[in-house]
Amino acid sequence: MAISDSLQVTKTRIAAACVAAGRAPDAVRLLVVSKTFPAAAVREAFEAGARAFGENYVQEGLAKIEALGDLRSQLDWHLIGPLQSNKTRPVAEQFDWVHSVDRLKVAQRLSERRPPQLPPLNICLQINISGEASKSGLLPAEAAALAHQVAALPRLALRGLMAVPEPGPGALAQHQAMAALFAALQAEGLALDTLSLGMSADLEDAIHAGSTMVRVGSAIFGAR
Ligand SMILES: *Cc1c(COP(=O)(O)O)cnc(C)c1O
Repeated sequence: MAISDSLQVTKTRIAAACVAAGRAPDAVRLLVVSKTFPAAAVREAFEAGARAFGENYVQEGLAKIEALGDLRSQLDWHLIGPLQSNKTRPVAEQFDWVHSVDRLKVAQRLSERRPPQLPPLNICLQINISGEASKSGLLPAEAAALAHQVAALPRLALRGLMAVPEPGPGALAQHQAMAALFAALQAEGLALDTLSLGMSADLEDAIHAGSTMVRVGSAIFGAR
């Protein structure tokens, strides 16, 4: 299927899931995950209307941002993969969002290195909602403390939370636990508007639970 067609199918899936959940059809934003696919594929998705792209690996993302420099002012680049503190400078300089912050030190460096002429860098805290030892992210019980610290950093805008629930019978409960954590932080006075939850295989569960941004790769570009 052409990228423009699979993008349209994905948008229709998102809208249908919103309606099924009793939510407004535009309540959920689509982040197109372009990791492993070439800049030409990103350009095709852009031409079909996509405006937000997610990359997992810093070097690969930077190369695509450069290759698509002519489109830079018209789209947003999101880093959704793990970030080490020694790679924070190019990320603070080149990306619009980071979804994978799980340590204060990384957040502090991103804030220090965000160029003054750019708007604050948008941040989601990554939560290890499945509790698997191999997964990155902080534990739900640690989220409030880090959220307040990150919200106080001058060059960051804390927007919300991100997670990758473990597939299987417990997946919906993990999506719901993320939505509950998101609501609890909002109730503490944090102005969060982004629950980054749901991928190609589980976006319906995520939207049912309350996701406001789904990150979709293989359903749009094909298998990696
Ligand atoms: C790869 C990836 C996605 C997209 O996954 P698909 O199954 O291809 O839709 C979303 N989020 C993260 C963090 C990823 O690494």
